[in-house]
Amino acid sequence: MTTAAPRTLAAITADALRANCGEGDCWARPGRPCSCAPAVHLARYQRARRRGLLSAADLTAVLAGVIASAVPAITAPAGRAA
Ligand SMILES: [Zn+2]
Repeated sequence: MTTAAPRTLAAITADALRANCGEGDCWARPGRPCSCAPAVHLARYQRARRRGLLSAADLTAVLAGVIASAVPAITAPAGRAA
């Protein structure tokens, strides 16, 4: 059994941009930036996963990054920067 090397977020995002977005009023088409650019809507990663453009490990890496960036903001005491 072989294990694929983890991909960079940049590579994962490049593949996610090959899918339509589907977030709220965005609906960016493949190759076009999201309305929140330079960020990319999470819905686009999920859609890319459903279309087979991303692996489960890719989506897990994206979600881990979202959680890691949100936790300091959630747990930081009021009035202190994370
Ligand atoms: Zn979008």
